[in-house]
Amino acid sequence: MFLTGTMKINAQGHLVIGGIDTLELVKEFGTPLWVVDEEGLRYNCRVLKEAFSRWGDAVVAYASKSLCNLAICRIAAQEGLALDVVSGGELFTALQAGFPAERILFHGNNKDPEEIRMALQAGVGRIIVDNFYELELLNSIAEEYGKNVDILLRITPGVEAHTHEYIQTGQIDSKFGFTLTDGQAMEGVKAAVYSPRLNLTGLHCHIGSQIFDMDPFRYTTALMMEFIAQIKEETAQEIAELDLGGGFGIFYASGDQPVDPEEWAEAVMTTVQEKARHYNLRVPRVIVEPGRAISGPAGVTLYTIGSFKEVSGIRKYIAVDGGMTDNIRTALYGAKYSAILANKADQEPVETVSVAGKCCESGDMLLWDVKLPRVESGDILAVFATGAYNYSMSSNYNRLPRPAMVLVNQGCADLILKRETYEDLLRNDLLPDRLKLE
Ligand SMILES: *Cc1c(COP(=O)(O)O)cnc(C)c1O
Repeated sequence: MFLTGTMKINAQGHLVIGGIDTLELVKEFGTPLWVVDEEGLRYNCRVLKEAFSRWGDAVVAYASKSLCNLAICRIAAQEGLALDVVSGGELFTALQAGFPAERILFHGNNKDPEEIRMALQAGVGRIIVDNFYELELLNSIAEEYGKNVDILLRITPGVEAHTHEYIQTGQIDSKFGFTLTDGQAMEGVKAAVYSPRLNLTGLHCHIGSQIFDMDPFRYTTALMMEFIAQIKEETAQEIAELDLGGGFGIFYASGDQPVDPEEWAEAVMTTVQEKARHYNLRVPRVIVEPGRAISGPAGVTLYTIGSFKEVSGIRKYIAVDGGMTDNIRTALYGAKYSAILANKADQEPVETVSVAGKCCESGDMLLWDVKLPRVESGDILAVFATGAYNYSMSSNYNRLPRPAMVLVNQGCADLILKRETYEDLLRNDLLPDRLKLE
């Protein structure tokens, strides 16, 4: 289940990705190493795009926050996806990658004036407005530029998707969006409609992440369509676009049962169409914003195993040459992963170990209780489904340089992110004169 895309085990019992033995990758690029399976990544883009387009007017926007650099943005552009960005930095990366600005959607609950100016100058396709403050700010900056701006309004529908509570954003008690249930959303819509420089093309919502259940999506879609009907009644405004966010769950570890993209698409698109008929509305263009479902399964992290510690009768710790600096998800919200020994991929598991990082923090763990063949120092640990929210949430805690990232495809491995050096760590450090050595 964790072998996706082009991942295989070869005759020597080594993990192969993109036609390359991962031990060769380790020799050439070192560890820790983020490996991205290009074919797997492109496949994920295509499957989602085709699944939704089959039902009518639909746009798949890759949520770049899950994994964002020049190469990945370029691939998303080549696959004909739209792109979500949440900051000036993500926007800058996308533009530098040549991503067509009109296919970029700009999110965020506190875009600053400079970020908004950057977006307007670039001609970003949609700005997702999060609150009243931003409605005013955006309208006044658009006025400065003499431009009209297409916007979506982020609505908080109050749906609780069944997932870990720290990664839910759909509840009422959320920093995001206009609350649907207390009339704030309708007030926001009216404020948008009456903003001279803003063109309200649609509504947006995002109910959470790593979701396996289609019901909250159906339910949210129905709520949003009902709201669109209400908007038409109260303002005569026809909402043309409905963005239902991301959150499609992927396989990390046993127990995870991802829904087929075809089923997601059918659930969402048929609900939109049914409700449009029911309320006598034009069928809006549907936008979905998967991040993890595109980048997650395409990424594998390779580590070298170093030290061991046995707590007798309790557990055996093995430590790798990375940790919460390259994958904070286990420490942050108890995320689970699957792993194998890339150099012993054909051997049966014989022991249960827990994998620790090398940071100065007890919570710096990558996997708890994973079954592996007999583990020795120098073995290469491959952790699966680490394409999403690993690099993008990485840090230099303990001044660990960030790993390199390679893109592999049909026997070629290209570096798409250089390994950080110690000099990189000092890049922005300054020593005031009065602290300099005599
Ligand atoms: C995080 C996020 C996404 C992507 O979520 P995934 O779980 O990676 O699919 C999409 N849209 C918005 C607004 C988000 O905040």
